[in-house]
Amino acid sequence: MIVETSAGLFCEAGGFHIDPWLPVDRAVITHAHGDHAHAGSAAYLCAAAGERVLRRRLPDAHIETAPYGQRLRMGDVDVSFHPAGHVLGSAQIRIEHHGDVWVASGDYKRAPDPTCAPFEPVRCNTFITEATFALPVYTWDSTATVIDEIHAWWRGNRAEDRPSVLFCYVLGKAQRILAELHDRADGSIYLHGAMWAMTESYREAGLAMASAERVTDEMRGKALAQSLVLAPLSARGTRWMKRLPRASDGFASGLMRVRGVRRQRAFDRGFVLSDHADWPALLSTVAETGASRVLVTHGWSDALARYLSETRGLETGTLKTAYEGEAGELTSAASESSSAQ
Ligand SMILES: [Zn+2]
Ligand SMILES: [Zn+2]
Repeated sequence: MIVETSAGLFCEAGGFHIDPWLPVDRAVITHAHGDHAHAGSAAYLCAAAGERVLRRRLPDAHIETAPYGQRLRMGDVDVSFHPAGHVLGSAQIRIEHHGDVWVASGDYKRAPDPTCAPFEPVRCNTFITEATFALPVYTWDSTATVIDEIHAWWRGNRAEDRPSVLFCYVLGKAQRILAELHDRADGSIYLHGAMWAMTESYREAGLAMASAERVTDEMRGKALAQSLVLAPLSARGTRWMKRLPRASDGFASGLMRVRGVRRQRAFDRGFVLSDHADWPALLSTVAETGASRVLVTHGWSDALARYLSETRGLETGTLKTAYEGEAGELTSAASESSSAQ
């Protein structure tokens, strides 16, 4: 029912592409991350809860929406969105055609996140899953534990009059951290300019988050010395950082589970906080869908497909896509900063 094309995953019976990376007539979007929501398509459809952030990403696009759970007839299929628990408005796409049910899950996680609706397991025959962190080494601690670590790090730096710069993804991670720090922040929080607009979108959606101010050109040194500053990884090593002398830096990502990556990239601290499912959650989610066939997209897709076929006896395959996941964050930030030099 869904096939690979050069523009992206295509549902011929429904006449639409899912998260296409080239312009198409009709794009059905799981969520607004840059590698899943590309500009240039004639029409977009997303979950209603994701409209605000998708418009922020694609200001000129023609966007239609449907609430989670509502069935839409598209061509010869019924389509509905179901929460993916990844970022605000993220959705799995359920497609039914003559009783055969497919679910394209986009990116998802099972850990609770105060900024988005929790992942909803959807029964299906064929489940399309991501594999960003599909290796047994990737298991996540509870979010509360990680937030405690961030809080303690910030306190320690503050006692030494040093700013704490926490690098994290602009859409989703930054707002999740602010929401987790709501009622807990006991100092000033600042945002790199690149995070401002998306965070405002989250506030407009009514989500409770710790208050934060935007870093302006005049701010430097003493003004920021005791603060927590959230910034995209692409700001690391740039002139922007000169306003933050003696800063301690940390990176919040599932990638920080691997000590070698942390050491190699020389962050003072790594905080293992991911918006993707960890290895146990990938396996339990696949089981909960009841799917007999699993198709795996970006990340460790071969590893997950092989594991599921060998240990669970499922029919598996991989789908080639242009999605990047959290690993792409590290490589694209590296290429951005090296091309800037
Ligand atoms: Zn994503
Ligand atoms: Zn992705």
